[in-house]
Amino acid sequence: MSLTDSPPWKPGPARTLFLPAIVLVAMPWVGWWAWRVERRTLREGRPLFTSEWAAAERVGVRHPEKVRVIAVEEIPMPGLGWMHRIASQWGFDRRHIGGLCLRYGILLRRDLAAQPVIMAHELVHTAQYERHGSLTGFLRAYLLQCLRHGYANAALEREAIEKSTAGNHSTFI
Ligand SMILES: [Zn+2]
Repeated sequence: MSLTDSPPWKPGPARTLFLPAIVLVAMPWVGWWAWRVERRTLREGRPLFTSEWAAAERVGVRHPEKVRVIAVEEIPMPGLGWMHRIASQWGFDRRHIGGLCLRYGILLRRDLAAQPVIMAHELVHTAQYERHGSLTGFLRAYLLQCLRHGYANAALEREAIEKSTAGNHSTFI
């Protein structure tokens, strides 16, 4: 995921105990939602351009040919309005989300879709999904890291930021 802005991280018992328990309980449903959005993106999206394919190989994607990309007005999130309000307190305000990777389905916000750094960032997540072996394997690890350490300090997110901005730090948003 690419956030254009994220609030300061405030750790506490809710984020280390209560919310991770909710993530684990909700994971089958989150995985089902992610699978459906990925499937729709694979059906309606475009394949990678040549330069994006090269970026995919550079960041370790094993199957660039499977990736499909779609530009959307607003990045979708699972759940209802009250869930989105809670998520925004964790730092997942959907208005600030520029891109979302659901394994081989990459969704980019239309106004940011031409920025190669965001595409490279999401492709790092594709490689991470491949390493984790499943949609839910990655999502569980990613969400728990974000809860425990904050979006900006989650190891999977740090890897995406570092690999997508290698030699080009100033253009990441
Ligand atoms: Zn990300």
